[in-house]
Amino acid sequence: MKPKLLLHSCCAPCSIYVLRELAKDYDLSIFFYDPNIHPHTEYIQRRDEMANYAKKIGVSFEEGKYDSEDWFSKTKGLENEPEKGKRCEVCFDIRLGETARKAKDEAYDAWTTVLSISPHKDVSQINCVGNKLAKQYGVKFLESDWKKNDGFKIASQMSKAENFYRQDYCGCVYSKLAREKVIQARKNEN
Ligand code: SF4
Repeated sequence: MKPKLLLHSCCAPCSIYVLRELAKDYDLSIFFYDPNIHPHTEYIQRRDEMANYAKKIGVSFEEGKYDSEDWFSKTKGLENEPEKGKRCEVCFDIRLGETARKAKDEAYDAWTTVLSISPHKDVSQINCVGNKLAKQYGVKFLESDWKKNDGFKIASQMSKAENFYRQDYCGCVYSKLAREKVIQARKNEN
């Protein structure tokens, strides 16, 4: 029997390749806990795509609470942090903390996240938060850097083949605004 692993997911495009790889060694369950995603319509879109794909491949899917008020209150004062900065560390702590708590409560053998597949994220920041929470909850955290070995490229190809919706910002309102600024600056240049 394969060990039971709880996988934190933020969206289908980031998860598709990770699911394929982890399914070789683990009995997987997906946990969609992402109160950072803004606005709520975007959250629903990413959640539904992940849930539908989980159903298609026969992996269990569970959604956490969309507690955006709590997320905003914990990241207060960090609005102007860049991506990979302090706000992201708090954001990882919120999402991975809930995943680690669930993994302990439900007696999983290990837990991890798909987040390290993104080239825009600091892998050491993710793994550092994960290892801290593993100690706190006493459940093994699987360290990863999923973008390695062409992981991100393969994930993009797999997502294209599934015709997944792919967002152009990380998730929170601050990353959305930063992205809109970049787009506007490009337009102004032309
Ligand atoms: S940029 Fe992404 S990881 Fe950082 S705080 Fe926003 S949603 Fe979280």
